[in-house]
Amino acid sequence: MTLTRRQFNSRVGQAAAAAAVFGISAPALGNSKAKVVVIGGGAGGATAAKYIAKDSADKIEVTLIEPAKTYVTCFHSNLVLGGVKTIESISHSYDKLAGNYGIKLVHQKATSIDKAARRVTLADGATIDYDALVLSPGIDLKYDSVPGWGQEHEEAMPHAWKAGPQTLLLKSKLDAVPDGGLIVMLAPPNPYRCPPGPYERVSMMAHTLKRAGKGKCKIVVLDPKEKFSKQALFQEGWDKHYPGMVEWFSKDLYEAIKSVDPKTNTVNTGFETYANAALVNVIPAQMAGAIARDSGLANETGFCPIDAETMQSKLDPNIYIVGDACIPGDMPKSAYAANSQAKVAAAAVRGRFADAKTFPPRFQNICWSMLDDDDAVKVGGRYAPKEGKIASVEDFVSKPGEDASVRKMTQTENMGWYEGITADIFL
Ligand SMILES: Cc1cc2nc3c(=O)[nH]c(=O)nc-3n(C[C@H](O)[C@H](O)[C@H](O)COP(=O)(O)OP(=O)(O)OC[C@H]3O[C@@H](n4cnc5c(N)ncnc54)[C@H](O)[C@@H]3O)c2cc1C
Repeated sequence: MTLTRRQFNSRVGQAAAAAAVFGISAPALGNSKAKVVVIGGGAGGATAAKYIAKDSADKIEVTLIEPAKTYVTCFHSNLVLGGVKTIESISHSYDKLAGNYGIKLVHQKATSIDKAARRVTLADGATIDYDALVLSPGIDLKYDSVPGWGQEHEEAMPHAWKAGPQTLLLKSKLDAVPDGGLIVMLAPPNPYRCPPGPYERVSMMAHTLKRAGKGKCKIVVLDPKEKFSKQALFQEGWDKHYPGMVEWFSKDLYEAIKSVDPKTNTVNTGFETYANAALVNVIPAQMAGAIARDSGLANETGFCPIDAETMQSKLDPNIYIVGDACIPGDMPKSAYAANSQAKVAAAAVRGRFADAKTFPPRFQNICWSMLDDDDAVKVGGRYAPKEGKIASVEDFVSKPGEDASVRKMTQTENMGWYEGITADIFL
């Protein structure tokens, strides 16, 4: 059928009017492929890019914007501290993801999003238009949340809450701790990525120290929370494997972090001064990555509200937000959760632009934590949308006092999960 200019203009007008009424975009007429742009090539973004591109190559063009050429997973970075894994074994390239699914890779930082024009601007000034955008920029650290500590001190007192050079720095400082040395960890307030992460880190630090014959070291954890994920299991594990090496204090026992001095490795609380520590690990408060906050997609919590059915932003239906940057209801901020949310977002996007059949969303999470060789514990659950949020349907957690064979099996699952999820994300 040949359209006259008048018919063509009329149809463009109808499409634009429909888009305006429903507040959502339609692919530009004359362009048969919808353009989906993904910002952030981590656990959430890379999964979304793959599952949108997979099976919809003829209908959707996917562009993944990620500055790094290699993604170093935070998950299992504590095992690098523990000497169980190497940094190479947790580093992943995007080559296969791009090659296998025809995803366009742009190795740049996205600097802004024009929501009205549906346009992303990159660090070099170039722009990319989208019909739908998936955002998974992870977290930013609140550098002003610990008195006396800031970005300029992350070499002296590393956080290692973004994996890569910080992980190696923390590992080298850990290896240099003398026997009898004091390590102070400042644990983060809720909400933060990986609820059991700080405590798995304590276990892996103690593991390294003990193996190096430095069993007289002490790890003091100053925690602004009253309790923490898998607490009974971690504390049982510390008593069993690292007796006398770990002391955990909740805020009612130390009052507050009054100041830290990165020059002298000193931490002052209301009750105690920890002077000349051999190592201070500051894990500060967290918020959604800057691109999400600067684009007006976060609320007063610093994280982004989403529609639990589709992972669409509650503030812009053309943008889907997954992973640590979103407000995930009862789910934790984890790689498993980000991967699960990304698949829900991908299904919604494919339903919208590739006529794919959609199903009621289901979410899943399991977080394993290694305590010692052949000893790991897990917590997890299934989730579904309920009353406007992602709500827990069923949960489970390892039990204190479990048989060694159960714990060994849990650690085998942990190692297998890592291989499985990284293949699911990057291959
Ligand atoms: C020590 C530690 C241990 C952990 N262990 C586990 C575990 O055992 N199991 C588990 O499930 N989870 C674990 N996690 C949590 C897990 O790493 C995160 O929840 C997960 O990585 C979140 O995925 P994401 O996609 O939201 O963010 P990320 O994986 O951080 O990815 C965000 C990506 O966005 C990119 N980006 C940011 N801004 C921009 C921009 N403006 N333009 C372009 N790109 C941008 C970044 O470069 C980054 O690659 C752990 C975390 C830590 C810190």
